[in-house]
Amino acid sequence: MLLDATIKAQLAQYLEMMESDILLKVSAGSDKISREMLALVDELATMSYNIKVEHTQLERTPSFSVNRIGEDTGINFAGIPLGHEFTSLVLALLQVSGRAPKVDQKVIDQVKNIKDAYHFESYISLSCQNCPEVVQALNVMSVLNPNITHTMIDGAAYKEEVESKNILAVPTVFLNGETFGSGRMTVEEILAKLGSAPDASEFADKEPFDVLVIGGGPAGSSAAIYAARKGIRTGIVAERFGGQILDTASIENFISVKHTEGPKLAASLEEHVKEYNVDVMNLQRAKRLEKKDLIEIELENGAILKSKTVILSTGARWRNIDVPGEAEFRNKGVAYCPHCDGPLFTGKHVAVIGGGNSGVEAAIDLAGIVKHVTVLEYSSELKADSVLQDRLYSLPNVTVLKSVQTKEITGTDNVKGITYMELDSETEQHIELSGVFIQIGLVPSTDWLGDTVERNRAGEIVIDNRGATNIPGVFAAGDCTTNPYKQIIISMGSGATAALGAFDYLVRN
Ligand code: FAD
Repeated sequence: MLLDATIKAQLAQYLEMMESDILLKVSAGSDKISREMLALVDELATMSYNIKVEHTQLERTPSFSVNRIGEDTGINFAGIPLGHEFTSLVLALLQVSGRAPKVDQKVIDQVKNIKDAYHFESYISLSCQNCPEVVQALNVMSVLNPNITHTMIDGAAYKEEVESKNILAVPTVFLNGETFGSGRMTVEEILAKLGSAPDASEFADKEPFDVLVIGGGPAGSSAAIYAARKGIRTGIVAERFGGQILDTASIENFISVKHTEGPKLAASLEEHVKEYNVDVMNLQRAKRLEKKDLIEIELENGAILKSKTVILSTGARWRNIDVPGEAEFRNKGVAYCPHCDGPLFTGKHVAVIGGGNSGVEAAIDLAGIVKHVTVLEYSSELKADSVLQDRLYSLPNVTVLKSVQTKEITGTDNVKGITYMELDSETEQHIELSGVFIQIGLVPSTDWLGDTVERNRAGEIVIDNRGATNIPGVFAAGDCTTNPYKQIIISMGSGATAALGAFDYLVRN
C-alpha cells in the first residue's frame, strides 16, 4: 500500500467529485518504480468505479497517462506523482473527468485559442515545492486544448535522462524538445512566454486611480484591500503576485494560523484581493515613477498608469554574490532554492555560501541528501542562531570555512568547482564540487526608482510612521522600506498603514 490511511481518506472524498469515467493508460516494466506505480494505479482504481485502467506501451516506462474515455488528453506522469505532486495527480483525475479548473475565463479562452501543437515536458523532484504549480498549469492547458500535451518527469526516476539533458534545477520545462524555462510558472506566465502577454494598448484606456499599489506580496495585498474597502478606485501592479512567500516552505508565525505553506498563503492573498473591486495587473513590472499633477508609473511594456497616490511595496529579492561564474552557471549548478534543487545533487559535493540562518538551514537540509556540504562564511563567525549552528556542527558530512571570500565559480557546461580566498593568510584555495547554493540574504527591489524616491544606503525606501515617502502622495510598505524586521505580518501591517496614510492624504488634498 503506497497511500497511508489519512491520505486515502482525503483521496476518497476527492474521487467522489469525479464527473465521468476516465482511463489510466499504464506503461510498466519489472523495475521497482514500475511496481510501485502499478500499485498506485491499482489502488486508485479500487477506490473509484470511474477509474478504468489499460496496460499499454507509452513513450516512457514507467509512466501513465490520464485520459477521457475514447480521447487521449495528453497528460502523462513519468514516475510516481506522490510527495508534493500528489495534488497534481488528484487535480488531473478530477479535471479530466470534467471538473472545471479554477482559472479565469479569459485565460481559458486564451488557452483554447492556441492552434500550434505544443508538447511540454517538465522535469521535477517530488520534494520541490515550486514544481506542482508548473505541472498543474501545464496539465490544465492539456485538458483545455487537444493541441497541447504535457509529461511530468520525476528526475529521481529518470536520472540518466536528467543527466544527459544537463538539468540541475527543477522545475525545468522543455517545449517541443527545446528548453522553455525554469522556476515557478502559472498558466498566465506560460501564455505570456508563448507570446500572448497583454501589450501597452490593453492599459491605454485606464482611468487614473486613487491608489495604485506596486507589488503584490503581503504588503501590497494588504494595502490594496485596505484601500478598496474605503470605496476608492484601487489598482495593483505585480511582477509576480504573492512575492517571497511563493518560495517559503513552511510558515508558523503568521499569527492565528498555526501552520501554512507559502504558496497556499499566496493563493489566499490573491483570492482575498479579488473579493474587492481592485484592478489586478499581474505579470507587469513597473520601470519608472514620475510625479506630475498625478503620479505616473510606466510599465516595462510601455504603458503609463496614472494615480493620485501610489504605494510602493516591491519587497526584496535574493542577493547575488556577483563573482565570475554566478550568472553563467545559474541553473547549471548555481542554485538559490535548496528545497527545490537539492535532490538533483544526491551523492555529490556542494557548497553553501552564507552562514546566516538561511545558509545554515540550507546546509543542514542538503547534508541529508548530498555527499558533502562545504559552508563558506565571510566573517570570522557564523551568524545563524546557536541552535542551528549546534545542529550543523553535529553533522559528519559538513565542513565550515570561516573568514573566506568566494572569488569564482568555475566550470565548463556546469559547475565544477569554487575558488575562494582565505582572508587571514590571503591565499587562494580551490575545491572541486558540483553545486553552489547562494544564501547571502536579500536586497530591496527599488533600483527601478532611479533618483526619485529617497532611500537609505541599503536601498530601503525611507518612510515615516504613516508610510509616507519624501514625495507627496507616494507611500511605501513592507520589505522594500526602512520598516524594521522583515516578516509577513509586519509587511501586512505596514501595507495597512500606508493605505490608511494614502486615504488621509486623499481626503486632505
Ligand atoms: P515581497 O514578498 O518581496 O513582495 C514583493 C512584490 O513586489 C512581489 O509581488 C514582486 O513580484 C513585486 N515586484 C517587485 N518589483 C516589482 C516591480 N518593479 N514592478 C511590479 N512589481 C514588482 N516571514 C515570516 O513572517 N515568516 C516566515 O516563516 C518567513 N519565511 C521566509 C522564508 C524565505 C525563504 C524568505 C525569502 C522570506 C521569509 N519570510 C518569512 C519573510 C517574508 O516572506 C517577507 O517579509 C514578506 O514576503 C515581505 O512582503 P512584501 O510584500 O514586503 O514583499
